[in-house]
Amino acid sequence: MVKYYNSLKSRLIRHSTRQSMFRSLAIAISLGVIVVQTAAMTGNLNAETAAVEQAATKRAEASLDMLASVHTQSMLNRKGTDDNDGAIATLNGTMEQFSKSNDHVKLWMVMGPKIVAFQKANRQNEIELPRDQVDNIALQTGEVQSTIVKGKLRQTRPIIFGQGAAAADACGSCHADKMGTKLGEVMGAYSAAVDMAPENATWWTNAKREMATTFFLTLAVIAMMLFLLRQITLRPLGHLARSTNQLANGALDVEITGDDRPDEIGDMARSLKIFRDDLSDKRALEAQNLYRAQYDEMTGLANRSTFMQQLQVEVESAAAQNQQVAVIGIDLNRFKEINDRHGHAIGDGLLVQLAKRVTRGLDDGEFVSRFGGDEFVAAKRFTLNEELDEFIDRMEAAMLQPIKVDQLMLTPGASLGVAIYPSDAETAAQLVANADLAMYRAKADPNANVGRYEAAMDERARERRALSIDLRTALRNGQFKLHYQQQNSIETGEIFGYEALLRWTHPVLGSVAPDYFIPIAEENGEIIPIGEWVLRTACAEAACWNNDMRIAVNLSAIQLGQGDLARRVHEILLETGLSPRRLELEITETAIVADKDRALGTLRMIKALGVSVALDDFGAGYSSLATLHAFPFDKIKMDRAFIWEADKRPESRAIIRAIIAIGHSLNVPVLAEGVETENQRALLLSEGCLEAQGYLFGKPRPETELAHETATSVASTATPKSRKTKTPKVVRKAA
Ligand code: C2E
Ligand code: MG
Ligand code: MG
Repeated sequence: MVKYYNSLKSRLIRHSTRQSMFRSLAIAISLGVIVVQTAAMTGNLNAETAAVEQAATKRAEASLDMLASVHTQSMLNRKGTDDNDGAIATLNGTMEQFSKSNDHVKLWMVMGPKIVAFQKANRQNEIELPRDQVDNIALQTGEVQSTIVKGKLRQTRPIIFGQGAAAADACGSCHADKMGTKLGEVMGAYSAAVDMAPENATWWTNAKREMATTFFLTLAVIAMMLFLLRQITLRPLGHLARSTNQLANGALDVEITGDDRPDEIGDMARSLKIFRDDLSDKRALEAQNLYRAQYDEMTGLANRSTFMQQLQVEVESAAAQNQQVAVIGIDLNRFKEINDRHGHAIGDGLLVQLAKRVTRGLDDGEFVSRFGGDEFVAAKRFTLNEELDEFIDRMEAAMLQPIKVDQLMLTPGASLGVAIYPSDAETAAQLVANADLAMYRAKADPNANVGRYEAAMDERARERRALSIDLRTALRNGQFKLHYQQQNSIETGEIFGYEALLRWTHPVLGSVAPDYFIPIAEENGEIIPIGEWVLRTACAEAACWNNDMRIAVNLSAIQLGQGDLARRVHEILLETGLSPRRLELEITETAIVADKDRALGTLRMIKALGVSVALDDFGAGYSSLATLHAFPFDKIKMDRAFIWEADKRPESRAIIRAIIAIGHSLNVPVLAEGVETENQRALLLSEGCLEAQGYLFGKPRPETELAHETATSVASTATPKSRKTKTPKVVRKAA
């Protein structure tokens, strides 16, 4: 891109060199016009000058002609040849008169030396002498003298004896006699001084006109050249240069003209257009990348890093203004299920709709982000607790109300956890972590959607972290053992199998409940080796029993997710020598939902080995009929919560009845978990449930304590006698 820009730039520079050449050419042409025009003007003015001189000369000649004839006439008119005075007076008067009526002409007569001498000797001294060089030269050479000095024409015409007016007979004899002159001899001269002011005035007028014409013509030529230069080259080039600079300065909405021209400027404009479009694409991509770095592309909400930055700012401003900042961690409860059931497009649609809902009507200081998956985090800066309560209610309502996605009405449910600055945490990161803890607390509580952070949660989280570390070495250190809880026929009390239950004796904490440590082992992956150890140990121990009693082993969702689980089970069975018919694997519905197709595939392979599969804790989770339909379970284990509530809540009893009826219709035995009292036993029996497990029959015990049962039992493999014979009857009774 940079190369492209540089090449364009250099082309522009090259072009501007050419443009300056063109400019020089234009100037040269203009100068040429000036020279030609000036030459023409000078020629015209010279001709004008010549005409002025000619006119002045003509005026001088006419004046001298007149003087000559007046001179001749006045001489001829005198009384006697010796009486010149009158004639001279006439002549002088005429000349004076003439000068008066002709403003710019002055006339006089000069006499040659012979006449002067004659006059001096014989007459008064009234003869005019030569006035200047011109007169003198004319008298000496006998030729007409003419010169122009300072705008004045001086002309002197000699009077030559025998020529012109002096040729008159009367004059000739008189001059020859009295002054001793000869033919052809200069006797004097007529002289005229013509002031050329009128001619010069005309000249000036003409000169000014000529100069003005030249000036305006030149100006017009230059203007035309500049106009053409500007229109053809300078303007489009200037526009291109401006566009290029604007592009270089980051503007993209640059208008580029001239791309339809067939010349090089057109080429450059087209190149610049391509460059601009490329740059726009690049900028769009950069903007997109920037957006991706800051926002969640699907929902348009801020992503984690943007949220954290904003939260940091809010925390700082809250600290400065003595305010509080609440962070609400939000996690959907059934997102995975919705995704699995309706597909990812619906799942995505749900997230988008939720994002729209939570951002609707956000106030100042409130913001929401998506951290990923179905995890949202909201924050608010506030002063009064009521403000926070209102915000929490708003977020809760937005998350919990059913939502329509592509004609489907979905109720994803959500858990919200609230942590507050500065009471619950002092930093933005800690605030988010604590809101998360509170959210998990809400998730674990079936009766609450919103959990508030408490310092004890931190303790719990720390404890979980510590346990997670300890779990990694627990197996190696032999801290696990198995307890077995019997499974009985409700009717006869006969034992037909045992459930293996894992026990962990922590070196410091002592006995840790599996409900507590198994989720931790699932989180850190330790459940895989631990689960395998449980399976191997249970199979090995049961294989040593002197009966065919069934052994039930719990499988975690993580184990079910292993591709080679069926092979592992097969190997362990071979290794321990336990008959597959004696092994029952318990899995919960949650484990199947995680990856239904894969889980069901694995279960089918396990079943193909001859191992039976029980659905554990049915009724507690999804309780989906679809799950029951999708896989032929060998047993349904009814969750203990229903049994405990059966006495008090009629709904629980109704559910118990429904589950038993489902089992009957599918021809799958139902085992009731957690039977603790005789009442519960009687109730179950009256509802047609034939199998049970619970403290009423026996608590989970170490294998050693089972010795006499496992040694003496006569129960047949897999099925209690009572079920084979009595199920139809009891169920009929229940119905
Ligand atoms: P579960 O598979 O539903 O096991 C039955 C639980 O109910 C056992 O709790 C058992 O002690 C308890 N129980 C049975 N009868 C009664 C009764 O009458 N009253 C009361 N209050 N409780 C009764 P336990 O051993 O604490 O195990 C809890 C859960 O931990 C198990 O529930 C199972 O989900 C899990 N678990 C235990 N051992 C393993 C294991 O080896 N692997 C896996 N993945 N999970 C295990
Ligand atoms: Mg179980
Ligand atoms: Mg159970």
